[in-house]
Amino acid sequence: MKLHNGTLYWPTTLSTKLNVETPKQPKKQYDAIVIGGGMSGCLTAYRLMKQGLTVAILDKRKFGQGSTAANTGLLQYSNDIMLSELIQQIGEKEAVRFYQLCFEALDDIEEIANELPHEVDFVRVPSIYYASDEKDAAKLRTEYETLYMNKFPCEFWDESTLSFYMPFKKPAAIVTFRDAEINPLKFITSLLTYLQNQGVDLFEETVVTDTSFENQLVQLKTTTHSFQAKDVVYTIGYEKKENPKREDTIFNRSYVMVTKPIDLDKLWHQKAMIWETKRPYLYLRTTAEGAIMVGGMDENIPEAPVDEKVIENCAEKLLKQTNSLFPHLELEVDCCYAATFAESKDQLPFIGAHPTKPHHYYLLGYGGNGTIYSALGSKIISDLIAGRENNDSHIVSPKRNADTNGLPFSSIA
Ligand SMILES: Cc1cc2nc3c(=O)[nH]c(=O)nc-3n(C[C@H](O)[C@H](O)[C@H](O)COP(=O)(O)OP(=O)(O)OC[C@H]3O[C@@H](n4cnc5c(N)ncnc54)[C@H](O)[C@@H]3O)c2cc1C
Repeated sequence: MKLHNGTLYWPTTLSTKLNVETPKQPKKQYDAIVIGGGMSGCLTAYRLMKQGLTVAILDKRKFGQGSTAANTGLLQYSNDIMLSELIQQIGEKEAVRFYQLCFEALDDIEEIANELPHEVDFVRVPSIYYASDEKDAAKLRTEYETLYMNKFPCEFWDESTLSFYMPFKKPAAIVTFRDAEINPLKFITSLLTYLQNQGVDLFEETVVTDTSFENQLVQLKTTTHSFQAKDVVYTIGYEKKENPKREDTIFNRSYVMVTKPIDLDKLWHQKAMIWETKRPYLYLRTTAEGAIMVGGMDENIPEAPVDEKVIENCAEKLLKQTNSLFPHLELEVDCCYAATFAESKDQLPFIGAHPTKPHHYYLLGYGGNGTIYSALGSKIISDLIAGRENNDSHIVSPKRNADTNGLPFSSIA
């Protein structure tokens, strides 16, 4: 399955290349094998390596060619599901805790970014979440009160405050602080280099075709070698064929347009990330190179269109929507692409142990906050593998909402 089509932006920003030095033969046995070398796999391998385990990462592609290369890199503690809505869904204690985990994940990503050998363009910026219409303004007010009451750093802007800071008029907005943006491809490229230097074995173009638990070890069949490990973690992203079949997952596609760089002084208040209450939503950020990256126009079709014209047409529409917010900017499309995107019906990621296959774990960070889920998920998985108690894992457990046969997962294809 092709996870994206069109021209990606992040590969054009890389100044250092990943030099993979694959061992001729795998070790006889690993403590843990991570399947998938995207954001989720790299962060999981990082945590497992830090707890002293021997680790290998296997990827069917060359590293950095999965969805992480299409990720627009907005890191926000607020989720597509508002805290006030999540409280209705799973109760106050769990919902607030989930939001706290997202908030803490931002600090974790920053800490790791600071440890890496290369610049990964992690920058703290606020987010402006505006009401797309009048009826959503009241919803935002309730959300602001809920966030504020639970000590999340935020402000409520009414129409006049918003139009003081921004050139567009909307009924209201929540501004959330301590959010951040990152170049996700630079991040995993640097993290993979770091992991390799720390002794993690990297195997690219190695497709895992089957796993089973025999002789007290997980046996992995792949297109290159056979591998053995005490534990295996699936961080395989959005690929439909390989993915555990779940009734409660929706596969969509989304579009991204990046402008040619513009004069940085012309950019808006604190270069905040911007998004809105409408679904599907428009979202914008700026890049370290001075471009504006805009995403949205999600469609209920899993595969990205093959026809470049379709992608270019959507990019023109995204450009028009951006210009309606910032009419003073002269913008031109630099590149555009479309990509598969998955979300769970309850808007929470799937992180934890397989219900029946021993020593098999999953980190599927489905949803708009995928990177945050990769980060918080890597901590949960490393706790579970180490046998440490984790008081949060039930919130995102893959066993919730099991389908009718009681098994949320089928095995890998
Ligand atoms: C257009 C778009 C914009 C996004 N914007 C944001 C954003 O602003 N903020 C945010 O937080 N999230 C965002 N996301 C979500 C984010 O991209 C994902 O959460 C993230 O990429 C998931 O990382 P991953 O490691 O799980 O998947 P991937 O990066 O896809 O990595 C999975 C890897 O597994 C490998 N694999 C699969 N099956 C096998 C197998 N059988 N054997 C070996 N290897 C296998 C694949 O080759 C792949 O490299 C966005 C996603 C899209 C599509």
